[in-house]
Amino acid sequence: MSRFNNAIAVITGGGSGIGEASAKRLAAEGAKVILVGRTASKLDRVASEINEVENEKVAFPFTCDVTSEKDVDQLTDYLEKEFGDVTVLINNAGGSFNSNIQQTSYEQWDDIQKLNVDSVFLVSKKIGKLMIDAASKNENVDRNIINIASLSGYKPGALFPHYSAAKASVINLTKALAFEYSRSGIRVNSISPGFIATDLVDSQNEKVQKIINRKTTMSRLGKPEEIASVVAFLSSEEASYVTGIDMLVDGGYMLT
Ligand code: NDP
Repeated sequence: MSRFNNAIAVITGGGSGIGEASAKRLAAEGAKVILVGRTASKLDRVASEINEVENEKVAFPFTCDVTSEKDVDQLTDYLEKEFGDVTVLINNAGGSFNSNIQQTSYEQWDDIQKLNVDSVFLVSKKIGKLMIDAASKNENVDRNIINIASLSGYKPGALFPHYSAAKASVINLTKALAFEYSRSGIRVNSISPGFIATDLVDSQNEKVQKIINRKTTMSRLGKPEEIASVVAFLSSEEASYVTGIDMLVDGGYMLT
């Protein structure tokens, strides 16, 4: 049985890495997926790969900067007009760069908060309203939001204090959203990945390899698909009583 038949899933940052793997996983299990990001060519590639595998048009690219209120409004209008509902929202867009506090300008600090936290607020507010309105008309559908936080939200790194603070905020914002949206039957959870092999992690860098070998008890990077399978569980009806949690998926990093 397909877990996501009739699901309409929006995945921000769907053009690469964890977002791409999650979109492919949900589409393989029956969902329509709307891929959101800034670079049309990346979204188009993922959408056409999904549509080819599924042999029908189930993936829809939409160019949008999740830090822009205007863009997010346009995305919400598009979703309302074309789909009328959103059952799964995955706030996955995010990122960072290496810099300690003394090297970081206020503007750089602010950009990282905007990308990693403000976007979760903005998208969960605007698309969340669409979900709340849809729930008031038909509450017999499992609707939920998943925010991609990070291990850094628990253990700050010396080279990404801006990102660590932002991801800790995402974990707590998730709980606040879960509190508020529960009354509409909308579940909200977050996932905190450890080191995953995507563009974000410089896996060829010797220092990074040493950290992974020393600190991750499983002594290897995770694969985007290993986060996508947790996304699929938490966003499915199998997790219908799970809300307000953060799930660490870190290959044992927090054990060390
Ligand atoms: P990627 O760099 O592959 O994915 C990030 C995606 O976000 C890109 O597709 C990018 O596309 C999109 N994006 C960036 N900025 C914006 C924006 N302003 N508006 C819309 N889309 C945007 O890295 P990952 O897959 O690793 O990252 C996914 C999430 O996982 C992030 O939130 C990251 O912080 C988190 N994470 C990753 C870990 C890892 O080890 N890889 C560990 C812990 C958490 P484009 O630039 O075209 O917009």
